[in-house]
Amino acid sequence: MILSSMNIVKNRVISIDYTLTNMQNQVIDSTADSDPLTYLHGHANIIPGLEQALEGKSEGEHFTISIPAEEAYGERDEGLVMEVPLDRFEDAEAVEVGMQFEVQSPGGIQIVTVTNVTGTHVTIDGNHPLAGQVLNFDVTVTGIRKASSEEIDHGHPHHAEGCEDCDTCDDACCGS
Ligand code: ZN
Repeated sequence: MILSSMNIVKNRVISIDYTLTNMQNQVIDSTADSDPLTYLHGHANIIPGLEQALEGKSEGEHFTISIPAEEAYGERDEGLVMEVPLDRFEDAEAVEVGMQFEVQSPGGIQIVTVTNVTGTHVTIDGNHPLAGQVLNFDVTVTGIRKASSEEIDHGHPHHAEGCEDCDTCDDACCGS
């Protein structure tokens, strides 16, 4: 008799351990010292290339994958790089390369990163810091469960321990 184990398909809550490295083999992100990443499969909670690679996998499976930029955080858009006068910043003297600011744009709040500072101007970059990069993932599937109808409704997983990771929900979300 063949028992079918639970695989990763849409509307299941998936937990993974992963290490993310770039092409220079630098570790960008890892769950090694934290809880696994938990997400709702099929709802674009994670980058498309990784979600696709996880489709059909079962608990305990381990794999590595290289994801091109267009299936990760997209190609860089040089139109999102701007030079703004230094005096537009509230605390101009504190502005340093690597700082991030929230900017109100027509499409909503945008995060920009400072990439250059001169005596009079600041260069800001609205691209995601990982845009244009090939991302290498080393992944282990640590958990698969069915999502509740509320989770499917909200498009993200809920946590037994409370609502802390649920910041896109209102208070009703986790019954608090
Ligand atoms: Zn929710």
